[in-house]
This record gives sequence, structure tokens and C-alpha cells, in this order.
Amino acid sequence: SSPASNGGENCCVKVALHIRPLIADERAQGCKDCVTVVSGKPQVQIGTHAFTFDHVYGSSGTPSSAMFEGCIAPLVDGLFQGYNATVLAYGQTGSGKTYTMGTGFKDGCQMGIIPQVMNVLFSKIEALKHQIEFQLHVSFIEILKEEVRDLLDPTTLNKSDTANGHGGKVNLPGKPPIQIRETSNGVITLAGSTEVSVSTFKEMATCLEQGSLSRATGSTNMNNQSSRSHAIFTITLEQMRKVNPVFPCDSNPNDSMNEEYLCAKLHLVDLAGSERAKRTGSDGMRFKEGVHINKGLLALGNVISALGDDKRRKEGVHVPYRDSKLTRLLQDSLGGNSRTVMIACISPADTNAEETLNTLKYANRAR
Ligand code: ADP
Ligand code: MG
Repeated sequence: SSPASNGGENCCVKVALHIRPLIADERAQGCKDCVTVVSGKPQVQIGTHAFTFDHVYGSSGTPSSAMFEGCIAPLVDGLFQGYNATVLAYGQTGSGKTYTMGTGFKDGCQMGIIPQVMNVLFSKIEALKHQIEFQLHVSFIEILKEEVRDLLDPTTLNKSDTANGHGGKVNLPGKPPIQIRETSNGVITLAGSTEVSVSTFKEMATCLEQGSLSRATGSTNMNNQSSRSHAIFTITLEQMRKVNPVFPCDSNPNDSMNEEYLCAKLHLVDLAGSERAKRTGSDGMRFKEGVHINKGLLALGNVISALGDDKRRKEGVHVPYRDSKLTRLLQDSLGGNSRTVMIACISPADTNAEETLNTLKYANRAR
């Protein structure tokens, strides 16, 4: 069942800016910090440009828990009320997307958003399990060159144990490609992807860790761990609420239990690097990948900006979800009753100023 409409409040796309500190490499190269946070405001300045967001989390020592409490915890709460949600990390390679999302989860390190979501999720479930029956599923896919790849495919997971650590790219012959489908009531499904049923933090963490291992990485002159793919970790929460009637003896045994079913999903998205194809400066094939990545990011920008434009939305303007695999996959979790947070990640280094400005402009358009 779908949750009640939240009226004028639907379509909240919130944009948070996350500025990582200068990293050792940048300090060694003598980079200067070129991004200033305006005190007391969610605003930053770079050169003569100023941008305001819903939240700004700076290198000035804001703990990551502040971002979680301010932006992400409400989405986890919403999940228990049946609202779909999406968290997107946007930014150039090296800006801190994976660090911020916690996509590269390793046991013992629980800094990023995904492990924190998992913590909150399981403690809520623990507290509610006497009234509500829960079922949790996860899927983990990546979109590379407009193709969907299953990061939890058990047949390729085994191969990622091989020497180079990235052996998981071989698809079994005859295995049909994953297809994005829409049901008659508008629910988006991924036909052919692995859905793992999990009941503990550890089981979910194992999925995250194994999927991260098989994520495609490629070498460019920006960063040899450059991520050219969008990685999407999806948590689906199903609930069967059992409401006991006030006077059980008085009621008809057939309706002595009022059962309410809710299903909602949370997409946690580590987007491909936003740097332009020209900056990767490599061969024709890599350039094509760049073009495809930009197709997803371009479509995402268009969708979010169409959703955020009140006037256009009232006029029933077309939201171009079908322009890329990324936006098509997120269609039932972007806009409508769902909640979206985009975290724009930037490096403060002056050497990255041009890409940082591009990120700020992109994120600004999403508001
Ligand atoms: P991306 O996924 O956008 O390419 P990463 O998350 O891999 O970027 O981050 C690039 C580098 O910066 C990594 O070495 C990472 O450890 C470091 N880093 C990112 N964010 C932070 C942060 N908030 N604090 C300290 N180091 C960070
Ligand atoms: Mg990354």
C-alpha cells in the first residue's frame, strides 16, 4: 500500500555540500584551500562566486554524525512510514563520494553513511520487532556504459577472489542482462538482479563489502581508482504491522488482527565521477565511457531540476526519467512522495577549483 500523500511537501530534494579536508597528497603538492564557508550560513564562496545550499558540512571539523542526523536519519524514519528515498553522492573523482557514502565498507570502519544507515535501521527493527514483522532485502548494482551489472551475482562474486581482485566482470554465457521494468502501479523493478534477504547488520555488511570488491574500476590520468560507474546499494524494507484491537474478546475473530503492509526502499548511490570526458584524456573507448557517464549525470540533473521547479511541476511538466538508466531505475524514488538528498562532494584544493565550481553549479541547479 502507498502512504498517504504529504501534500505540498512532496518532492523535497535537499542538497547538502560536503567539503573534505585537504588530503596528504594535496598538502604535499602545496595546494591551497580555496573554498570558504560563510559563518552561520549554509553558504560557500569560491573566488567571486557564492552558493547557498540546504546544508554545508565543512572541513572545519563538523563531525560526520551531524550530516547523518541532519540529512539522512529523516529518510530512514520515512522508510518505516513507507516512503521511498534516495541519497546521491555527486562530485569529481577524489572529492570524497565513496568516503562519505561508506560504499567501500571494510569491517571495523563505520564512518560512512551506509554503515550508519544500517546501524539505525537494525536498532529500530530491534525496538519494533514485537509489534511488526520485518523483512529486509538488499541489492547492489552498478551502471557502466548504460548497462546494469549485478555486484551481488554469486557466480561472479567467486571470481573476484582471483589475483587482480577485479575478476568479477565476467558474465556467465547466456545469462540475460538485467532489465529495468515498471509494474502497473509504477513500481520500478530490476529483473534478473540478485536480491539478498538479510536479517542482521553483519549479513548486510557482507553484501556491501562483497559488492564493493566487484565494482568496476579503471585507470585514467585523474586517479587510477577512478570510478566510471554509478554504484547503487538498495535496501528494501517490508513491514507487516499487527494492530491488536482494544477489546479483543468483543471483536469478530476474522478482523481481530488488523494487518497493515508497507514496503519502501532506500537507494544509496555513489555516482560516477563528474569530471568531463576531456579531462580523462585517454583513448576513444574511455571517452565513450565518459560520454555515457555524462548521460546519466546529465539526465539526473534534468530530472532533479524539473522536480525542484514548483511552477513547472504545477503545470505538469514532463520529468525526463527515461533519458538514462540511472534516472529510470530511480524513477519511483525521486520525486512524488519520496525523499531525496544530494550530497555534493568537493575538494577544497585550488588545483581542483574548476571542477569544484562545476559541482557547485550542478548542485545549485538541483535546488
Ligand atoms: P571519490 O569516491 O569521490 O573518488 P574518495 O571517497 O575515494 O573520493 O576520496 C578520495 C580521498 O580523499 C581518499 O583518500 C579518502 O580517504 C580521502 N577523503 C575523502 N573524504 C574525506 C574526509 N571527509 N576526511 C578525510 N579524508 C577524506
Ligand atoms: Mg569513489
